[in-house]
Amino acid sequence: MGCTERSTKIEPTKDSIDCNICKKKSVITLQHGSLCKTHFIRFFEDKVFKTINKYRLIERDDIICVAASGGKDSTAALYLTKKYFEKYKLPVQNFFALLINEGIVLHRDDSLRNLETFCKDEDISLDIVNVKDNFQTTIDAAAPRLRELGKKPCTVCGIWRRYILNKHARERGATKLITGHNLDDEAQSTMMNVFKANTTLTANLGPISGVQSHKLFVQRIKPLFFCTNEEVEVYTQLKGWTLDYCDCIYAEEGYRSHVKKMLNEFEKKFPGTKQGIIKSYLELIPLIKDNLIKEKRRGTIKLCTECGEPANQKVCNACKILTSLKTV
Ligand code: SF4
Ligand SMILES: [Zn+2]
Ligand SMILES: [Zn+2]
Repeated sequence: MGCTERSTKIEPTKDSIDCNICKKKSVITLQHGSLCKTHFIRFFEDKVFKTINKYRLIERDDIICVAASGGKDSTAALYLTKKYFEKYKLPVQNFFALLINEGIVLHRDDSLRNLETFCKDEDISLDIVNVKDNFQTTIDAAAPRLRELGKKPCTVCGIWRRYILNKHARERGATKLITGHNLDDEAQSTMMNVFKANTTLTANLGPISGVQSHKLFVQRIKPLFFCTNEEVEVYTQLKGWTLDYCDCIYAEEGYRSHVKKMLNEFEKKFPGTKQGIIKSYLELIPLIKDNLIKEKRRGTIKLCTECGEPANQKVCNACKILTSLKTV
């Protein structure tokens, strides 16, 4: 059974600090002060809408696909995209959700049910695509063999998920793909790229990702880019949605979980660390991009000889993994 409960409920107590704006009891304390439920929800939604407007993430003619999982981040992104469409009177038929079912029974089954209920309640169109239909196996079924091959199931799942998200979103005519990455995720990705000297991948970070555009790549956008993990958690709790707040069973094995632990410990000791990483890299990303262009290190996008999808090499990573699984 999956876990759907957060350990502590978000409710003000008599000991809570007063809201900076209205003096009611607060539900969260941020770097610039404490906020009650009403003012925090307003602050959070304003921040997301400002990110969308400042970086022009959504434009009038866009067809938006939201990568949804039933988790807190993507559900917040999905809900706020709908709210944005309503606020700016954009055509709601130009917006849909997409869930990739990886075949992770202990993680995905509950979150899939939660998402189906959420989309029904909110009247959002939902597409579901199975990893099995694309790669003839599930992550659960492939995990033991992947470990024998020295591959982490989470890394493979990430590659296959990104592959299907891009392919399906494109085939459905989407011009942008929204992901629920928050500030914590982005700080982790930035540090992972630094530790592994992946400069080209760092250039892909930011509220709009992608150094190179290609007609087969759907541009990824991240409206929660400036929202911390805690803010998203508190927002979704206050909204009262039934969500899966637990990490996926394979996440612990991944490199990211180590970086996450390290950054969380560092943030506790030195508040503002994650914001600092994001702020400095946002200034550096244009320089990194320019440098890659100057040095012609971006590489040309080819088409995978196995599946025809865009790839950096002759055969894309998704197909390479599939081939290695088939070799005994
Ligand atoms: S945490 Fe890793 S294994 Fe789990 S769904 Fe995400 S990418 Fe897949
Ligand atoms: Zn208030
Ligand atoms: Zn391929």
